Amino acid sequence: MKRTIIVAGNWKMNKTREEVNEFLNGLTIEEGDSEVIIACASPFLGEMVKRAQTSFPRLKVSAQNCHHEASGAFTGEISASMIRSVGAEVVIIGHSERRSNFGDTDEWINRKCASALEEGLRVIFCCGETLDEREAGDHFRVVESQIRKGLGDHDLENVIIAYEPVWAIGTGVTASPEQAEEMHAFIRSLLEESHKGSMRILYGGSVKPENFKELLAKPNIDGGLVGGASLDAESFGHLVRIGDMMMS
Ligand code: PEP
Repeated sequence: MKRTIIVAGNWKMNKTREEVNEFLNGLTIEEGDSEVIIACASPFLGEMVKRAQTSFPRLKVSAQNCHHEASGAFTGEISASMIRSVGAEVVIIGHSERRSNFGDTDEWINRKCASALEEGLRVIFCCGETLDEREAGDHFRVVESQIRKGLGDHDLENVIIAYEPVWAIGTGVTASPEQAEEMHAFIRSLLEESHKGSMRILYGGSVKPENFKELLAKPNIDGGLVGGASLDAESFGHLVRIGDMMMS
């Protein structure tokens, strides 16, 4: 069975309210078969959900992180239940920028995943090696360890995996389709039989309209988690059209 392609934008800490509206006013998403997700900054989650419901029924809204507790004395954090309560359906967990800048460890990531999944959110679980790790030939071991420790024994039904080599994020350097496919096939081989065929594994790292089709042509690449190229409505719409075309 063909897996549904996912085109997911990760806006990171970009866009004011005006800029969010400008993006949505300029976005065209026709009917199509790929899944479309945008992870916006938390102040705009509720508004994005409302705009999606009225103007873009295919668009699912995602948060970019959550805390593992439902509530409490955690100044500055947001919980999975808060994300759910404004109608967002997805959360990115374990992004390399969270791992390197905010100290998200495998253990914390595991707990965040547990909390999000319990709350009924879908999780985009990110993994990926640094350049040093790849150059040392350690990339498969690193990614396997991130997956085993981060996802642990969680039910993977509502999990999407995003392989994002750190050296390709925001650098303009994309992993070659062959490098990405090799890792995606490896990740798939780690999964239990019940999820091997169905798990969507996204590639992330300088995806743009010019390289997306080639990546999607690989059998184990089921979509993209896109930073920079998702910020512009024209380019994001283009990526969605490529996803739709590759589904047909
Ligand atoms: C990301 O933010 O997950 C990402 C892959 O960014 P970029 O597409 O800009 O490399």
